[in-house]
Amino acid sequence: MSYKTETLKIGVIGTGAIGEDHIRRCMQSLSGAEIVAVTDVNLVRAREVADKYASQAKVPEDGESLIALPEVEAVIVTSWGGTHAQYVLEAIRHGKYVFCEKPLATTAADCLKIVEAEAAHGKRLVQVGFMRPYDSGYRALKALIDKGEIGEVLMIHAAHRNQRVGANYKTDMGITDTLVHELDVFRWMLGDDYVSAQVIFPRRTSKAMEHMRDPQIVLLETKKGIRIDVEIFVNCQYGYDIKCAVVGELGEASLPAPPAVELRKAASLSTEIMTDWKERFIAAYDVEVQDFINGVKAGKLNGATSWDGYCASVAADACVKAQESGRIEPITMSPRPGLYGG
Ligand code: NAP
Repeated sequence: MSYKTETLKIGVIGTGAIGEDHIRRCMQSLSGAEIVAVTDVNLVRAREVADKYASQAKVPEDGESLIALPEVEAVIVTSWGGTHAQYVLEAIRHGKYVFCEKPLATTAADCLKIVEAEAAHGKRLVQVGFMRPYDSGYRALKALIDKGEIGEVLMIHAAHRNQRVGANYKTDMGITDTLVHELDVFRWMLGDDYVSAQVIFPRRTSKAMEHMRDPQIVLLETKKGIRIDVEIFVNCQYGYDIKCAVVGELGEASLPAPPAVELRKAASLSTEIMTDWKERFIAAYDVEVQDFINGVKAGKLNGATSWDGYCASVAADACVKAQESGRIEPITMSPRPGLYGG
């Protein structure tokens, strides 16, 4: 397929929270793309979202029909995680570019199927929706590390805190939904792979639902021997707070906090802390999806690959296993295909 049209024609599968947000973004904030089809298991909702942002868009009855539409040049998958693999594989079968929100698939085996299908196709078609490498703070941090400003990296101390989570959130989602962003961004930042994981549970907060253990501390080790500790605390009460301090041989570099007004009042100095994760990385989502649009038009994608999606999934599986076993669990990847630099 050639992408000669000036406006890339995109179909979106899944019109829930982030699906609607990506549709709005493509139609109102970004350039060079339009939404020509949307679908969802709830077709009424799909039509409503289409009418809000792209009233001319078709609403085919399912994801497969959407992918098959001749006018759909690229696909965005924002349905429930358990359905991602089937739609990504179908898009590859049609030779169409696909942006898939994280996770690429809910099992490492399904991620590997996608990796193998794309490798057999012989060209990158898939971008996974890990947006943190598009965040200006993480980019500045990586640039500084790459320049050698803090020497060789030895350790990372990180935290991922949410104000609170809903009743459906389970302890393992601290890994599969929450830590997964750190798993991706640290691989990207360090150019390194994980070899082992351990999970420790500190004293449990009384603010968490009965069924879940919160907080938890994940200890990762990389091939280079870098040690990473990530605190996952999803009922911290005070806000959505992402921290990352990288310690090297020559110094320490930290992720900048998002800009916030300093308020001096009543004999105190304060700055607001965000509570909504959508706000914290809103600029990164814009840059990420624009990069997908530009990448498709140029015939060369830049963002997280299927292989990155697979590696995050393998590491997450090991962390979930470590939650249950209490032991240090090895993280072992399949051989990396040539398409991904293996
Ligand atoms: P959501 O609000 O539940 O939306 C998912 C939508 O997909 C729902 O409308 C759901 O319908 C629909 N759906 C389920 N199965 C489908 C199928 N087989 N075909 C078509 N549509 C289907 O969830 P969300 O928060 O938008 O999350 C969607 C995905 O994006 C998840 O994989 C999530 O992990 C990811 N995400 C990523 C980020 C990020 O930071 N990168 C942030 C948020 C979400 P029903 O509600 O009727 O089931």
